[in-house]
Amino acid sequence: MSHELNLTDEELLRYSRQILLPSWDLEAQQRLKSSQVVILGAGGLGCPVSETLARAGVGAIHLIDDDHIEASNLQRQTLFTAADIGKNKAKTACQALQKINPHVQLTYAEQRLTADNAAEILLVAQAQQSSTPFLILDCTDNFAARERLNEISVQYQLPLLSASAIAMSGQLALYEPAKQSGCYHCVFGDSIASGSDEAVEDTRNCSNSGVLASTTTVMGNLQANAALQYLGLSINPLAGQLLIWDGQRMSQHKLRYRQDKQCPVCANS
Ligand SMILES: [Zn+2]
Repeated sequence: MSHELNLTDEELLRYSRQILLPSWDLEAQQRLKSSQVVILGAGGLGCPVSETLARAGVGAIHLIDDDHIEASNLQRQTLFTAADIGKNKAKTACQALQKINPHVQLTYAEQRLTADNAAEILLVAQAQQSSTPFLILDCTDNFAARERLNEISVQYQLPLLSASAIAMSGQLALYEPAKQSGCYHCVFGDSIASGSDEAVEDTRNCSNSGVLASTTTVMGNLQANAALQYLGLSINPLAGQLLIWDGQRMSQHKLRYRQDKQCPVCANS
C-alpha cells in the first residue's frame, strides 16, 4: 500500500487515541481508511459493529437490509429510536452513522440477499478489482442467509466474518477461503444433521427465542474487534478457530476447526 499520508488533521485528531497504541500505528489507521466492509443485516449485530467500525475510521461501509424497524427492535438495535419505526434499517443506520463520522463513505441497499442478486449487492466486482482490504460481515439472523453468504464468500474467494447472537450467548469466526482453511459449512454443515456438537447451529433466532440486549452488542463489538485487526493490521485473530461467548457464565473459549476435505462448498474451490 501507499505510505503517503491520506489522513487530514481533523482525522488524525479524531483517531489519535487509537494511533497512540503501540500495536496500532499511522500505517494501520491509513490502511483502515483505505478498506471497505459490506455488512449484511442492519439489526442487533449490524448496528453495534457498524457503529464501532465507523467510529474507528473504516473508509467505506456498505449496509444491506430490506427489513423495517419495529418497536421490538429498539431494545438492542442501537442506531434506532422510536421515531424510526417503520423506516428501512439499512438506510436509517447509514444516516445515523454519517452523523457519527462524516469521514466514512456510507452506502446501502434495501434488498434481501438472493442467489440472483448476491454478487451485485455484496459488491463482489468492486472487491475483486480493488487491492485494498475488503471484508464481508455476516450479521444475519437466519441459517439460509448464512449459508448463501458463505457460498458467495467461497465462490469469489472473499473473506467472511460471521457472528451470531442468541439469548445470552454468541459465536464468531473469520473465514478466509483463499487459505483453504475451512468455511462456515465445514464448521456447521454436518452438526445440523447430527444435532449433537457444541458448535451446533439451529433454527432459533431472536424473534422466536429471545435475546438479552447485551448479547448482540457484545457480539457485534467482538466482531468489530476482529474486523479492525484484519483490516488495519492484516491479522486474523481467529484463524482456524470458532469463538464461543457465554454471557450467563461470563466466559468465552475457542474451538479449533479444519477444512472438511469432503465439504460440498469449499473442498474443490
Ligand atoms: Zn467448507
